[in-house]
Amino acid sequence: MGGADTEGSEEFQVTWRLGRVLDDCASLGFDGAPVPWRDFLEAFERAGSQALFAPESQDAPILIAGPAETAGLAVDGIWFLGASEDAWPASGTTHPFLPISVQREARMPHAAAQFDWDLAQAITTRLTASAPKVNFSYARQTDEVEARPSRVIAKIAGAPQALPEALRPATVREAATKEWTDLSRVPFPGGKVRGGARVLTSQSECPFKAFATARLGAEGWDSAEAGLTAAQRGQLLHAVLKLAWDANESGVGSHAELMAIADLRGFVEERVRRALAEELRHGEHEVMPPRYLELEHVRLTNLVAEWLEYEKTRAPFKVEGTEVKREPQIEGLDLNLRMDRVDRLKDGKLLVIDYKSGDVDPKMWELPRPDDVQLPLYAGFALDAEAECGGLVFAKVRAGEVEFAGRVDDAKGTLRPKTSGNSNLVKKPLTPEQLTLWKEYIEKCAKSFMAGHAEVDPRDYPDTCKECALKTLCRIEELQEQLGTSVGNQGGGDE
Ligand code: SF4
Repeated sequence: MGGADTEGSEEFQVTWRLGRVLDDCASLGFDGAPVPWRDFLEAFERAGSQALFAPESQDAPILIAGPAETAGLAVDGIWFLGASEDAWPASGTTHPFLPISVQREARMPHAAAQFDWDLAQAITTRLTASAPKVNFSYARQTDEVEARPSRVIAKIAGAPQALPEALRPATVREAATKEWTDLSRVPFPGGKVRGGARVLTSQSECPFKAFATARLGAEGWDSAEAGLTAAQRGQLLHAVLKLAWDANESGVGSHAELMAIADLRGFVEERVRRALAEELRHGEHEVMPPRYLELEHVRLTNLVAEWLEYEKTRAPFKVEGTEVKREPQIEGLDLNLRMDRVDRLKDGKLLVIDYKSGDVDPKMWELPRPDDVQLPLYAGFALDAEAECGGLVFAKVRAGEVEFAGRVDDAKGTLRPKTSGNSNLVKKPLTPEQLTLWKEYIEKCAKSFMAGHAEVDPRDYPDTCKECALKTLCRIEELQEQLGTSVGNQGGGDE
């Protein structure tokens, strides 16, 4: 290496950068212990290979470098970018292995704000002497926040001035596309609609979902499964329970008849056998291994037997019907409904039962915008006009977790005397006012569907959309930012 007075620009830069690498390696001996020569060489080689270095290029017209790498440069012009208050003086952290007092004593960068200021001032001053013309610039906005000029630079170079007209970027042309909100609606012409109670549940969840499924026939694809699908298993469970409770199918028709069954397991096994024979499509028995179907037989038998044992603990009741069909018209909308079961309770009122093998919660019925209106719809529009509704419940038929959940006007008196006082069935009884409010809401949903409301307006984004298969059709993920605060406020929207 030559003396400082004879070296050229590049040599000067190399010397300076090498000095920095040696400084880094010097931290090897920070605890005073001697460092073996071999270890030093290894560390020096590693630090050298990782050091960033950008010497001035003699033939390149433009050199891009950081402020520290420009030491010793003599160029035609310099453009210093990012000269904002946040970026210059540069911020950084102190050395992790040296006591802060030592770093301050040695005036190391970042050990005190003043040192950074002094360093930035020295570099800025040097830069202004490195070229006949030096420009400093900064963006007025960073991350949508107003930025201010670096005070160090303002002190040396003066207050910032607007960019000359010639250097300003061309104005962005107006977008060729225009945003347009389509508020047109195509009213439903009336008549039957596919989907039963699901249509109004969808209208409450998201009007577009109801429109797309009931009017456009859009639907998701079932994933391929080995063996029975979840839907098939649900159908089988419903079929077994229908056979168990349908007096016309040699089932039992009341609590008393249930209690009189001597061999409950045998009773259930027989119905499971029939359901498997009748419900599985032609050919399915052949493609499924016999052992698999045997296991399904055992599973269903255990499950339904557990459920019937649970029903034994109920107050006396009679079964009014299973898979009861009704075709009400609501605000001009004709629906095909089918209730899993309707019981007459001991006080003469009716109990609407819906079998569920999945996780459901009556919270889904809560106003002002329910997630599900199926049972409130049955209670308000599918029971005979003179009948009084005493409750609507999910019959949760799940292994080890069988129970009723829902709203009953007198759960202990008419449903199950053993119902805990802490249960929501007791704490939140069904009231005539609640039934009226649901009825009004459902009419509003029907009216909204009939009027052609099809807004992409999920009740509770993203939860409502999790299980919905229409994302590519409604493009909710593209729209979510625009929906922002309006999400979750339309549902059964007024006309
Ligand atoms: S994905 Fe969400 S927004 Fe789209 S249709 Fe379904 S519920 Fe509505």
